Amino acid sequence: MEKRISGTTGLFTLLGSPVGHSGSPAMFNFSFQKQGLDYAYLAFDVKKDQMPQAIDALKLLKVRGSNVTMPCKTIAASLVDDLSPAAKIIGAINVIVNDNGKLTGHITDGIGFVRNLKEKGVDIASKKLVIIGSGGAATAIEVQCALNGAKEIAIFSRQDEFYQNAVNTKEKIEKATPKVKVNVYPLDEQAKLQEKISQADILANATVVGMKPMDGKSLVDKKFLRSDLVVADTVYNPLKTKLIKDAESLGCITAPGKGMLLWQGAAAYKLFTGKEMPVKEYQAYEQ
Ligand code: NAD
Repeated sequence: MEKRISGTTGLFTLLGSPVGHSGSPAMFNFSFQKQGLDYAYLAFDVKKDQMPQAIDALKLLKVRGSNVTMPCKTIAASLVDDLSPAAKIIGAINVIVNDNGKLTGHITDGIGFVRNLKEKGVDIASKKLVIIGSGGAATAIEVQCALNGAKEIAIFSRQDEFYQNAVNTKEKIEKATPKVKVNVYPLDEQAKLQEKISQADILANATVVGMKPMDGKSLVDKKFLRSDLVVADTVYNPLKTKLIKDAESLGCITAPGKGMLLWQGAAAYKLFTGKEMPVKEYQAYEQ
């Protein structure tokens, strides 16, 4: 690794807090090395209130690009010079590209979700989806699925501080993509959840339920699932949530969150370098 770094090496960063657990530095540095690119990637622990200084530093140090993670995705969107169409609708970013001092924000979480399904042979276009959740991941997925031509999206959310996000997301999607039908339901309405899942092609969990320490829990009763339903999860720790295991046991096509994580990173890599990330090689190296 040290032999690769020189006076000309371009820097990419990850900004957010915490970042110590992130797999991104390993994934990006592996890929840069594999493709002989004179770049390096480092993570920096930056709190929300430090983001204005961090954004100035990206410009000052001519950092080539950056990923942004929680809790800085929303504030970062307000600090860059321009936003991609999806980032404009969502109001949050996880990627910044520095083009000679002009910073453009992108969001690749939804792109990663869509690509993860595509890798399983599932296309979003014309599909009916049930998406549970109204936080950051859910919003990105809901908007991207609408942009990719979903027919109908039923959003179910717990009536907590995130619920209003779902209502706002419905309005934003309807404005940006009027053909897509979006409805928001409280997660408590279990009969409605069962009805909507019975009519859906794809079900996705985009909440923290299923993630450690809530592993072993699922928001969807196994009896609501059926073998021709595609089941996706945003949770990647554990690799297989209870929802994914339940779906697998019924023979459903499943798309666990690890794939989404990989593909959102690959989409960022493409924006950073213009090249396809060596995904297969990285997967083999990681195992
Ligand atoms: P967030 O804090 O923005 O949103 C949390 C969501 O969980 C909200 O919708 C909230 O209502 C819901 N929730 C929390 N506790 C609940 C409960 N007990 N019952 C029902 N709903 C509950 O979080 P986020 O950033 O959207 O992350 C959600 C999940 O997605 C996390 O597991 C995160 O690791 C994962 N994620 C994965 C990727 C990926 O690339 N695979 C990317 C982003 C996030």
